[in-house]
Amino acid sequence: MRVLVLGGDGYLGWPMALYLSRRGHEVGVVDNFARRGYDHEMGVDSLVPIASLQQRVRRWRAVSGYDLEVFVGDLTDAEFVTQTLQRFGPDAIVHFAEQRSAPYSMIDRRHAVYTQVNNVVGTLNLLYAIAEQDPSIHLVKLGTMGEYGTPNIDIEEGFIEITHKGRTDLLPYPKQPGSFYHLSKVHDSHNIMFACRIWGLRSTDLNQGIVYGQETEETVQHPELATRFDYDGVFGTVLNRFCVQAVVGHPLTVYGAGGQTRGMLDIRDTMACIELALEHPPAPGEYRVFNQFTESFSVQQLAEMVVDAYPGRATIEHVDPPRVEKEEHYYRAAHTKLLDLGLVPHLLEPATIHRMLALADRHRDRVDLAAIRPTIDWRRTQSQLPTAGT
Ligand code: NAD
Repeated sequence: MRVLVLGGDGYLGWPMALYLSRRGHEVGVVDNFARRGYDHEMGVDSLVPIASLQQRVRRWRAVSGYDLEVFVGDLTDAEFVTQTLQRFGPDAIVHFAEQRSAPYSMIDRRHAVYTQVNNVVGTLNLLYAIAEQDPSIHLVKLGTMGEYGTPNIDIEEGFIEITHKGRTDLLPYPKQPGSFYHLSKVHDSHNIMFACRIWGLRSTDLNQGIVYGQETEETVQHPELATRFDYDGVFGTVLNRFCVQAVVGHPLTVYGAGGQTRGMLDIRDTMACIELALEHPPAPGEYRVFNQFTESFSVQQLAEMVVDAYPGRATIEHVDPPRVEKEEHYYRAAHTKLLDLGLVPHLLEPATIHRMLALADRHRDRVDLAAIRPTIDWRRTQSQLPTAGT
């Protein structure tokens, strides 16, 4: 299969490109290095040093013998998107290339507008390019479980059967996202569903949970193949951040009561889920949704798991919640479609947390303590950047 990985220089896109390449697919990588730019903007960096995309690609060729074709450009540039699709001629596209931090989107008006323009316009350009060039291309799009919010009923996989005044229909599940970033994903989902309906495109929208871990079979083959690992208050996702906090002796910052419950998955399962979606494409015109996570945990539970894995050294601190979200709530979300396709999950075990703690420990000298605490407050329309004034 010829697969174009959009956002292929990022945390998940880079290991995905290697994973597919190693399995014999022809892989193209697209990125505009926006993610590296956010690091410069906020004065933070990946905990694990990452090589440039060009170095990574050269190293992968030396290690594996496989080539990756690189396209440097911005998805909001429609001409670039069209030309890239014409040059590469993909059978499938895996789309990771969006601004993906909720706090970043909540800094101020400029960051909210940037996030929504980048994400929504990029995806819209892509939908047009696919429709004009080859509607049979399978678009695998990364969405988020955060699109649903935390309703007081079970969350279904994309659609819910509703009976209203005696009539019944299968309708898109109601969305109650919690940030302008999450809203951008909802807008994407609507645009993709509509494009499938009017142009007969085929797409899998993956409502992914929060990913943890950093190592895959491919990325551990050489330090220049490593993917990024974020621990800061803006881009660091919860379990990755807790592991870094533990090894540097910083209290694990649980926001509020810590009852916020979310779907989670191991980075290796992100690879496996997307491979399953690619191997089992939807029919022409079909828009389908998979909830891509393997287990649910509350933030407090995750913190306690890290404390147990690092006994006597890690402590928990409940900080004022920067987000506007329920601190205790009902949470039960369906996630059977990927299991039905054959997913065998890596569940979160102490050994996984020990590996993440060891990784954090190897790079502890690179930790910037000033970048860890949350500084972006949902209730304000303007917040200071994390390292400003420290
Ligand atoms: P990331 O920021 O590390 O990677 C995204 C990549 O896309 C970056 O390399 C960035 O430079 C690139 N990019 C952004 N805008 C672009 C544009 N306009 N044109 C070209 N390239 C662009 O993010 P990630 O953690 O790898 O997440 C990838 C995707 O998965 C995102 O869409 C995110 O919303 C989704 N997701 C991630 C998680 C998680 O826990 N990391 C959870 C749920 C969903």
